[in-house]
Amino acid sequence: MPTATIDATDVLAKYQPVIGLEVHVQLLTQTKAFCGCINQYGGEPNTHVCPVCLGLPGALPVLNRQAVEFAVLASKALNLTINEESVFARKNYFYPDSPKGYQISQFDKPLAENGWLDVSDGKGGTRRIGITRLHMEEDAGKSIHDGFADSANHTYIDLNRCGTPLVEIVSEPDLRTPEEAYEYLTKLKEILLYTGVSDCNMEEGSLRCDANVSVMLKGAPEYGTKAEVKNVNSFRFIRDAIHYEIERQVEVVESGARVVQESRLYNSAEGRTYSMRSKEAAHDYRYFPEPDLPTLTVEAAWRDEILKALPELPEAKRARLIAEYDLTPQDAATFAATRSFADTFEAAAKSAKSPKRVASLLLGELTGRLNAAGLELAQSPVSMTGVVQAADLLEEGKLSSKQLKGLFDIAFEKGEDFGVVYDREKPEQISDTGAIETMIDEVIAANPKQVEQYKGGKTTVSAFFVGQVMRLSKGQANPALLNELVVKKLNAA
Ligand code: ADP
Ligand code: ZN
Ligand code: MG
Repeated sequence: MPTATIDATDVLAKYQPVIGLEVHVQLLTQTKAFCGCINQYGGEPNTHVCPVCLGLPGALPVLNRQAVEFAVLASKALNLTINEESVFARKNYFYPDSPKGYQISQFDKPLAENGWLDVSDGKGGTRRIGITRLHMEEDAGKSIHDGFADSANHTYIDLNRCGTPLVEIVSEPDLRTPEEAYEYLTKLKEILLYTGVSDCNMEEGSLRCDANVSVMLKGAPEYGTKAEVKNVNSFRFIRDAIHYEIERQVEVVESGARVVQESRLYNSAEGRTYSMRSKEAAHDYRYFPEPDLPTLTVEAAWRDEILKALPELPEAKRARLIAEYDLTPQDAATFAATRSFADTFEAAAKSAKSPKRVASLLLGELTGRLNAAGLELAQSPVSMTGVVQAADLLEEGKLSSKQLKGLFDIAFEKGEDFGVVYDREKPEQISDTGAIETMIDEVIAANPKQVEQYKGGKTTVSAFFVGQVMRLSKGQANPALLNELVVKKLNAA
């Protein structure tokens, strides 16, 4: 009897992955969460510290108003309900980079609850991912294990980061694929950047993510046991770590064993996760209300005042760009992903004859050249005024797209703005009706098949003739006139 060989993908297909994400975000406040120390990345070790963030006996915390305001903004942007009263709690654990021996966090009464964020469902629609809660807490310091002569047997501690205000954003176990998790994070970051509450810089640790992953047989009544993957420092790595974790857990279950509830570390060089500590050995945090801080009250009047600063969010901006400027969903999404880029586009579009042309110049000709040259938009030799001027010339038919490409090439080569190049080069344009008609006749004679197609009702073929004549004229035919004459000639052919 032949034995059944099970293809790995078939096995995976029997299982349903379940993913929930916990994201820590540093807030861009001037000072730390509970003291007046500067909140700034880097600095000489242990210079941004004071008795409060060093946890010296008798030092008392005072809550940073701006941190609350940022947390409220982030909560609203993520559709969470903001609790009028929330309570700070001590999360007790011993670790050298936490001098107090506890972290001030929020536990059973967080600042905000029950939000959501939409991700695409892969079928043109969206799927709503629940956000359980957003709570405020403080960051710990940093242990430095290498880089010193005696690093082999010493660990150094830098407490500059100690007391930095954070929000932790916890999702429901609603995510189903690594790709969905990646999109959730991308959208979350977009929204947080829009609100201006964080720079979300993963390299500097201002955005950190733990991924909780489990697998269950499809249709099972209960979720499987989860493992938590910690310390992953890019969205791509998180996606890869979740992929790995799903396959590892399916293998465990298929072998008849059980998934252990534990924290795991991702090694990006090896592309795998390692057990860090099992839940049994995990800490009991002995949460209790923070006695040194009163209940946080965000009454309606203050909340509404804070929310006046809430900007239009990416999703709304995308929809509006499509409606207002007739952009494709793809182009609108590209602009809306970055608030400043969208603003740049809109400012230009408002002064241009055709916003669509501005969009395609920005996303095509300009972005392509900037990427090739390794430049940021702010470093572009062609200014936004130049882009608008170019778009208008195209729209008015005073410039062919081939000529425009040539002028942009020169602008980037010489580091000149578009207007300067255009005024000097003044590309020639053939606006003589007779000359253009002669070329059209030539192209029509050479392409009888396309003429038949046109006569048969396929009027879009006219673009083919326009393109051919444009080539023949070396890009110099007046595009508006050419379009008009091609249609006239084809109809008469
Ligand atoms: P814990 O008590 O271990 O902290 P929580 O219920 O607070 O667990 O959930 C922490 C995170 O783990 C949340 O993001 C949640 O969505 C996610 N999570 C919970 N259960 C599962 C599961 N079975 N599989 C995957 N993720 C889960
Ligand atoms: Zn301090
Ligand atoms: Mg929990």
